[in-house]
Amino acid sequence: MKQYQSALAKPELSPMMRQYCLTHQEYDDYLLLYRLGDFYELFFDDAEIVARELELVLTGRDAGLSERVPMCGMPHHAVDNYINRLLAKGYKLAVCDQVEDPALAKGLVKREITRLITTGTQTDVSAIDKASNNWLVACYQQKNYYGLAVLELVSGQFLACQINLGLTDKTLFNELVNYQAGEYLLPCSMQNQPLAKSLEQINLNINYLPETNYQSLDKTYLPFDFKLEDLLPDKLESTQALAYGAILALLNYVLKTQHSLPSHLQKLQFYRISDYLQIDAASQANLELFTTLREKKKKGSLLWAIDQTKSAMGLRLLKQWLEKPLLDVKEIKSRQNIVQTLLANYRERQNLRDLIGQVYDIERLAGKLGNGTVLPRDLLAIKDSLELIPAFKQILASLADPNLTNLAENLQPLPEIVDLINQSIAPDCTNIIKDGGIIKPKFSAELDHLRSVKTDSQTWFDAYVQAEKDKTGIKNMKIGYSRIHGYFLEVSKLNLNLVPDYYIRRQTLVNNERFTTKELKVRENEILGAETKLYSVELELFNQVRDQVKTEIKAYQLNAQILSQLDVLQSFAEQAEQADYCCPEFVETKCLNLKAARHAVLEKLAGRANFVANDCELDADNHFILLTGPNMAGKSTYMRQIALICLLAQIGSFVPATSCQLSPVDQIFTRIGASDDLGLGKSTFMVEMQEMAYILHNMTHNSLLILDEIGRGTGTADGLSIAWAICEALNSDAALKARTLFATHYHELIKLAKQFKSIRNYHVTVAETNDSITFLHKIKAGGTDQSYGVEVAKLAGLPKSITERANSIMEELGKQIYQNKLTISKCEQPMANQVQLFSPEQAKKDELLANLQKIDINQLSPLDALHKLNDLVQATRKLNSLN
Ligand code: ADP
Ligand code: MG
Repeated sequence: MKQYQSALAKPELSPMMRQYCLTHQEYDDYLLLYRLGDFYELFFDDAEIVARELELVLTGRDAGLSERVPMCGMPHHAVDNYINRLLAKGYKLAVCDQVEDPALAKGLVKREITRLITTGTQTDVSAIDKASNNWLVACYQQKNYYGLAVLELVSGQFLACQINLGLTDKTLFNELVNYQAGEYLLPCSMQNQPLAKSLEQINLNINYLPETNYQSLDKTYLPFDFKLEDLLPDKLESTQALAYGAILALLNYVLKTQHSLPSHLQKLQFYRISDYLQIDAASQANLELFTTLREKKKKGSLLWAIDQTKSAMGLRLLKQWLEKPLLDVKEIKSRQNIVQTLLANYRERQNLRDLIGQVYDIERLAGKLGNGTVLPRDLLAIKDSLELIPAFKQILASLADPNLTNLAENLQPLPEIVDLINQSIAPDCTNIIKDGGIIKPKFSAELDHLRSVKTDSQTWFDAYVQAEKDKTGIKNMKIGYSRIHGYFLEVSKLNLNLVPDYYIRRQTLVNNERFTTKELKVRENEILGAETKLYSVELELFNQVRDQVKTEIKAYQLNAQILSQLDVLQSFAEQAEQADYCCPEFVETKCLNLKAARHAVLEKLAGRANFVANDCELDADNHFILLTGPNMAGKSTYMRQIALICLLAQIGSFVPATSCQLSPVDQIFTRIGASDDLGLGKSTFMVEMQEMAYILHNMTHNSLLILDEIGRGTGTADGLSIAWAICEALNSDAALKARTLFATHYHELIKLAKQFKSIRNYHVTVAETNDSITFLHKIKAGGTDQSYGVEVAKLAGLPKSITERANSIMEELGKQIYQNKLTISKCEQPMANQVQLFSPEQAKKDELLANLQKIDINQLSPLDALHKLNDLVQATRKLNSLN
């Protein structure tokens, strides 16, 4: 039970705190920000949470109870900053304001919840990452049918789909994770299901809503003429009934938090998951599409490597395209065609890039108009962006590509809006309307008059005093202003005899008397009235202009869509040129043929010259590459680069290779060896096998499989057996023959190529020099049975004594295997160079060696190996210091 709930049960609770507690009850899972004077205060548990999270001082307040209640507060004018920090930590906030003037209130001031703020419905654009969308996702379920509705409040993008799930299907999970939404809305009925549990496990922000939210729209905040059909596509099919439920929940949530339905919501786009290349969440992480696996950094991801966009809108769309690569070759080709044109026209492309860089984030500006948070400078930004549209049209037309001409035709320059803003908004205005100077002169006669009253007053006063001086002969008469007495004429005592009778006495001081006149009084009223009026008139005019600008939201949104597409396509062209990519050719028959392919990210990090390019040949007859080679040779890199190339090809991008032929891939599955995804905390053999089972159940003959070191997570014999059996299954006559890359350290598998014609052996070459090796990273036909474990250890800097001993153990092992006794001896016989001396350091040495022998290299990840190595080195150093 929360503290405020138990307080509510106590009769001695003060009336105000009772009001607080009752309000909180309605929004129990929100932090309640309660307006008290100039502060927003939090009490009880909320206060403790916020004080801790934001490092604020925790104080207390008398609430009529025996003890003061915890309290912590934030000044009202700085509250947005605190709110954004709390949202970033995943909290939901309810803002409770005073809804009557405290000065006029009888008794307790009336207060109401005026805003609910959550991560998924946040509209403060300044606090939202501009490089990605901030989605709100609602999900609905009945039996194996799921509906999904997806909305971004800052842009109005609105999507929905329906998924029918099979038993082992992770499609829904993947789709939900894919959005990386600010917030997920699930019906309460799903709360205890495995799906919800696994979403919770990866710390997604989930809200469970009562079922009623999925059944009808809450009318409280709906405009009376609202028609849901206006938002939906022309025909919503019966197969989309569950999506409909999710849409309702989504809109109800927006209504609840925003108290209105924003006018910039775009028409719903219904999509089918099967229209896109699917990559499961684990593979997406493994392939480091958006962040690196371990450090979750953008630098080092595929998106980082290929991004040549010039606008935040473009970057967001590029990310969306990478999340949903296409399957339809026609669609892919139409993107490719534009990239070709832009690639071939260097000058026009650079001009486009320049222009795109100057356009403001009109997608989010349109959202600000819709959300009612638009500020004066935002209007200037809209205007500046619109003014660039004719230049865009001109460049696009000059390229004489029908696809681009099409785009150009749909761009809206909206000259009336440009004119309106040009005439109304001052180019040097601030965002603070109270400060004035927002509206340009000559836009409104009333405003001009009010301003002139204010600015002309000084001249008028100067002239007035001069006239009075002349009239009365009082040479040292002054004009002044006081808050209590208003404007006055000041006359020294010596000159009082010259004061005419129409002067009205106001105030007597030691040496002077102060007077006003009827004329002065009239002027004074005019000025004081003008100042307050000035603000309201300027605000009113700004609102009028804003509302006028708002009528074209749809046009800004269309411009935003076109310009972001253009940005992504020019980014592809620019990257193709800068990094020397080629245009993938899509073919009908199953294949994946690459010449001199590279890894987009590593190539960028290491430099083109330092990366060894490799070929790949997969087709219907030879759909399986078995890749052998020592650790660190480049097996994983090779397989990942091929997956990345397929992805790039299917978003319409060019790819890092000299030639590329492929048929579309419908799903990419990666099973990266247990050792290689420590970052995800998944290292058990069980998980490895679960994922393998998932792949086998869900792959189709168009899928791409990246299987890296299958079986590594268990002992040698059963690991080999499982890897063997999987290879057989994927190559049997009944197999689906999905294109597969299979890296293994089980050299025994090389033999399988003799049995299955579909298997091609490849190996990564290594140069042997004296007693060392060099990795060439070059993939060649044929297998290898060399694993060079000891050489790799040597390269890693393992002490010579250890690698020599390892070599002799290896020999011993070799003999045992030869004699068919696969028991690894405990190495009891004295070692070759062992000094027989039972000293403490000898004991330590023995311990060290014993530890070394315990290591099972096959069970070690590279990271573990490094740690182990470090331990060993430290131990050796310690030994040395003992001597
Ligand atoms: P494996 O999977 O065979 O153990 P990795 O693919 O993890 O090897 O590669 C090990 C390291 O070798 C990579 O981190 C990279 O630095 C380098 N490397 C791999 N492939 C290449 C290549 N084609 N050209 C240059 N360096 C490479
Ligand atoms: Mg590897």
